[in-house]
Amino acid sequence: MYDLVVKNGTLVTPQGTVEADLGIVGEKIVAVGLNLAGKSEIDVSEKLVLPGVIDAHTHMALPVAGTRSSDDFFTGTRAAACGGVTSIVDFTVGSAKTTIPEDIESRQQVAKDAVIDYTFHGEVIGWKPGQESEFHDAVSLGVKTFKFFTAYGSSGRRSDSGVLYHAFRAIAKLGATALVHCEDDDLITSLVNQLTDDERGEMMSLARTRPPECEGAAIEQVAYYAAVTGARVHIVHVSSDLGRAAVKRAKSRGVHLTAETCPQYLFLTKDVYKREDAHLFSASPALRAKSDQDALWKGLREGTLDLVATDHCPFTVVQKTWKGSFLDLPYGLPGVETLLPLLYSEGVRKGNIGLTDLPYFLSEAPARVNSLYPRKGTLGIGSDADIVIFDPSARWTIHAKALHMAIDFSPYEGMEMHGAVDTTISRGRIVYSDGKSHGEKGRGRFIPV
Ligand SMILES: [Zn+2]
Repeated sequence: MYDLVVKNGTLVTPQGTVEADLGIVGEKIVAVGLNLAGKSEIDVSEKLVLPGVIDAHTHMALPVAGTRSSDDFFTGTRAAACGGVTSIVDFTVGSAKTTIPEDIESRQQVAKDAVIDYTFHGEVIGWKPGQESEFHDAVSLGVKTFKFFTAYGSSGRRSDSGVLYHAFRAIAKLGATALVHCEDDDLITSLVNQLTDDERGEMMSLARTRPPECEGAAIEQVAYYAAVTGARVHIVHVSSDLGRAAVKRAKSRGVHLTAETCPQYLFLTKDVYKREDAHLFSASPALRAKSDQDALWKGLREGTLDLVATDHCPFTVVQKTWKGSFLDLPYGLPGVETLLPLLYSEGVRKGNIGLTDLPYFLSEAPARVNSLYPRKGTLGIGSDADIVIFDPSARWTIHAKALHMAIDFSPYEGMEMHGAVDTTISRGRIVYSDGKSHGEKGRGRFIPV
């Protein structure tokens, strides 16, 4: 007798779909089979059963320029669970004054109210060659992915090529992974310097000053250092065809590269910068052309892009108050709660990707890249019972007001969705059902990898 049985559903895995029940004891999946009996049972006939989504790129409670992203770990993970997400990988907050291990310890305090499980990428800010032991100590604390920026020199977050080279060597030795935000800072600065005052007042200038070539150029360089150091490198938020092509070239010559894209690049284009509320769409990388969007879908289908993550970093309408220039805005968009519905409705149903791609891009691949597999990311026996029950026949319309994220607008407001999250199970416990969150503050655990 199992504690909980998910009955009569269609299990969706990267290998195919199968009609079967899932038997859960405590926090684990212990059986996949037919006619299982449980103390408690959920009948999921006509519904899809997917492994819980892992959002491998979120920024809860992120301090930026005197403000903070509007979701904290409680509101953000509660909303995540309502969207079928059962784990997030967030970031530590690095600084030149603290070490990476110190950042991990302080971030664990900030994250302790999480409703679902989480782990961290260690942000690398102000690191210098000679401080290699910090990576080793971080790995002992359970963090094995480290985040670098090639942009944001003005706020001190940029890593130059000397830092990348030495840090990648240390990371390669540890079998860890470097994550890199790839944009050519010098190119951005030169383009910003050419702007007239009028152009600084236009949101379209965000796209003009952070063009696809700044992404492509940075990926080429980072891939080169990945190749010569042997480090595993993950390129975050690939947004353009040039970025996709650079990743593809590197992979084809054997560089240990993985890459992600985000919903905002798959579902929005820079046309939003012509709208009245254009400033709400401030993000970097900037939004792109329709041709880039098509190229990103192709990148997913051809295996150049390995996963989809949100870069969830919400700022409210007030936080995004227009002060006359696109340079004076916090950059970031909400997305953790709408990731799975958008990818099903606009990805699977419109034929951009297949149904069985969904658990690969949203669960298995993020689990593998972040060393969480097979504890997370699969419906296998022995894995954590992190499960989403998805109703493919449900219809609804995205309205920020009806969502659970701590933000008062949605970039996807008014979009009509086919398919909705019905129930979310996190380590054997129902955290979302019947349109309501049952998430418990602090039940989420830090998962050391
Ligand atoms: Zn990010």
